[in-house]
Amino acid sequence: MLAGELRLYGLQVIVLEKDAQHTPVVRSLGLHARSIEILDQRGVLERFLSHGKQYPLGGFFAAIPKPAPERLDTTHPYALGIPQTITDRLLSERAAELGAQVRRNCELIGLVQDDGGVTAELADGSRLRSRYLVGCDGGRSTVRKLIGVGFPGEPSKVETLLGEMEIGVPVEAMTAVMEEVRKTQRRFGLTPFGDGVFRVVVPAAGVAEDRTTMPTLEEFKQQLNAVAGTDFGVHSPRWLSRFGDATRLADRYRAGRVLLAGDAAHIHPPVGGQGLNLGIQDAFNLGWKLAADLAGWAPDGLLDSYETERRPVAAAVLDNSRAQMELMSTEPGAQAVRRLVAELMDFDEVNRYLTEKITATGIRYDFGEGHELLGRRMRDVVLKGGRLYAHMHTGRGLLLDQTGRLSVTGWTDRVDHVVDVSEELEVPAVLLRPDGHVAWAGEDQGELAGRLRTWFGAPGD
Ligand SMILES: Cc1cc2nc3c(=O)[nH]c(=O)nc-3n(C[C@H](O)[C@H](O)[C@H](O)COP(=O)(O)OP(=O)(O)OC[C@H]3O[C@@H](n4cnc5c(N)ncnc54)[C@H](O)[C@@H]3O)c2cc1C
Repeated sequence: MLAGELRLYGLQVIVLEKDAQHTPVVRSLGLHARSIEILDQRGVLERFLSHGKQYPLGGFFAAIPKPAPERLDTTHPYALGIPQTITDRLLSERAAELGAQVRRNCELIGLVQDDGGVTAELADGSRLRSRYLVGCDGGRSTVRKLIGVGFPGEPSKVETLLGEMEIGVPVEAMTAVMEEVRKTQRRFGLTPFGDGVFRVVVPAAGVAEDRTTMPTLEEFKQQLNAVAGTDFGVHSPRWLSRFGDATRLADRYRAGRVLLAGDAAHIHPPVGGQGLNLGIQDAFNLGWKLAADLAGWAPDGLLDSYETERRPVAAAVLDNSRAQMELMSTEPGAQAVRRLVAELMDFDEVNRYLTEKITATGIRYDFGEGHELLGRRMRDVVLKGGRLYAHMHTGRGLLLDQTGRLSVTGWTDRVDHVVDVSEELEVPAVLLRPDGHVAWAGEDQGELAGRLRTWFGAPGD
């Protein structure tokens, strides 16, 4: 995602990936509203929609079965079911199409930085020099360790086995047992994944010392027997894996010319399906800021605002994941709190609040006092001449001006000026950053110029 974003600004980008091939292991099963909006803003949503299935937005918070709330502030009020293997491939293809080099079989093992850039050392002994380096290398991030950034939090207390395999019993019999077990044990399920293959999730016996060791089919059988009283005759695994519930947040997202994004900066249990979404949104926040820095027009502190904006968002996701894990515990007290939360979710306001958390549509960055839209991402709106998001494919700033009296002179190389009107927009004009967050809303040219300076630096000629 980040490589694609950086290419929008013409930067030379190299992605180093240690694995020679794409992994068959499907972790994330989908995308939430904010990520879907982001893909729409960059004009690539269609290709994701054609590989996925749209699901109603209810039932994501701690898997409490509730209908979607009314009036969600998005034109994409659904979850897009799409396996991570496909999301990874589509993002990788987009980056390559835009001109990023994706080098597989390239493991980073060392790095040194100085005032001018970073030198990465690769496992094959070669070196690579760049102005910046961003560690998007997952929860066990080598980059994070090399720059000495701490990763405090809680270690895994429980572990879950996950795999794709076939079953040896009729689907109806399997479903009956599953429904009974899931009344109390929610870290359990067998879900059809096409071609007779099932995605099997079951609690592990304990926490493995080395989670890189793959579980065996025998381990799955034992655990299915322990939890459900039958192993469902599972056989012919496609792949087997395990995951924990560790919750950790990087101390810092930046050390000089090295930054962190995605799981390298934050990990948490997969409840609610938020981790990959959070990483996509990190990249969307970081891309234009890094590009501005390299292009030389970044105002003071712009690159550091990546951490001040995104780290609190990750901390909030960690917290809601902790809360969801408590609500999914089989302890009687936790089950009682779960019933209470389920009752509270019958209030549409509560349901919407929790849904906005999970879908990341409720995020508001702290841009100071001002209009209620300030700091929020803006939904797509229909304009007389098309859709707002259709104007955002290039990754530039955008002034949506319903008055026709405003100007971005001095910033036309960084900011587009769209004069149009929308029946859905009450404010006279909005200034959007390249990541779609509202930098200013109003009608006064002097105020607008101040905000242009804040986010897009000094005016040019
Ligand atoms: C069971 C499960 C279900 C999940 N479901 C969801 C969901 O529904 N929705 C959701 O949003 N999230 C979900 N997640 C979380 C999601 O999978 C992660 O948040 C996401 O994969 C993080 O992406 P990333 O690119 O930051 O890191 P990763 O996906 O871990 O990618 C890091 C990459 O860096 C490479 N790498 C590592 N070290 C090096 C090195 N030294 N040199 C070069 N390359 C290196 C790795 O090979 C890997 O390809 C789930 C996770 C699990 C375990």
